[in-house]
Amino acid sequence: MNYKNITVAGSGVLGSQIAYQTAFNGFNVSVYDITDDALEMAKDRVIKLKENYKKDLGATDEQVDQAFNRMSFYSDLTQATADADLVIEAIPEVVKIKIDFYHELGKVAPEKTIFATNSSTLLPSQFAEATGRPEQFLALHFANEIWKNNTAEVMKHPGTNMDVFNDVVEFARAIGMVPLQLHKEQPGYILNSLLVPLLEAAQQLLVKEVSDPDTIDKTWMIGTGAPLGPFAILDVVGIRTAYNISSGKAEATGNEDFKKLAELLKTEYIDKGKLGRETGEGFYKY
Ligand code: NAD
Repeated sequence: MNYKNITVAGSGVLGSQIAYQTAFNGFNVSVYDITDDALEMAKDRVIKLKENYKKDLGATDEQVDQAFNRMSFYSDLTQATADADLVIEAIPEVVKIKIDFYHELGKVAPEKTIFATNSSTLLPSQFAEATGRPEQFLALHFANEIWKNNTAEVMKHPGTNMDVFNDVVEFARAIGMVPLQLHKEQPGYILNSLLVPLLEAAQQLLVKEVSDPDTIDKTWMIGTGAPLGPFAILDVVGIRTAYNISSGKAEATGNEDFKKLAELLKTEYIDKGKLGRETGEGFYKY
């Protein structure tokens, strides 16, 4: 693996964390997003992340500043990928947005560039063709709060070249992750194969008015010894991602409970600016 220049596309909750973690470990990072406003928000996110790296990892002022100085910000995809060895995509969990993005990326990125998706619930084979270079494409999936929860699930689709797979495993290790190899496509990888059903079950209990977030979380925590309950985890994930997943499922299945859930998340949380921990309030106040 001789990667030097990494581009992170999408600078939201996860994209800004991936970009900063990568820069912190010595790589040059280009951050791409669609608007200058989104990039300004990304810079604010990174400034907050610096504090986490100092508090949680004992990083020095010099280290956190040097990491920031290795980052550049672009709203032009051609410039953002000009000399990229690897593009990590962390744009919204919406199939059409990702397909359009990969069509464009495949056209403008240099031939050498490897593409990796951080998608949580979609499979790389859904986008392999759109990339125009399926053998150089795979999934590289991080967990939220990447600097502490340092898993990187590396997953092939049937057409991924094995050398590309091995290089991305090595890259993940180089940025301080524990690489977890998936030899077959699995919706939700390993982590979300376990986590999504838990979060979904908790939200169904809420939407069916069986109980409230606090009681549901308490039940899980006391019953299993877990440090967080499902609604506290949803606040970390971000309510927008929860909404995208439930509204996607409502659309695909026509299921009334998913529809009700998507509506609840939109009207009671997103429209009120309660996006989870990142805005200081979601199901809980922080
Ligand atoms: P987010 O909504 O916080 O951020 C998405 C970003 O993408 C925004 O900054 C938005 O402006 C930008 N964007 C929108 N359209 C774009 C385009 N066409 N090109 C470039 N940028 C575009 O979302 P997020 O929570 O960071 O999730 C992003 C991806 O990471 C999703 O695929 C999600 O499944 C995955 N993921 C999320 C988490 C999590 O805990 N939030 C964990 C692992 C993986």
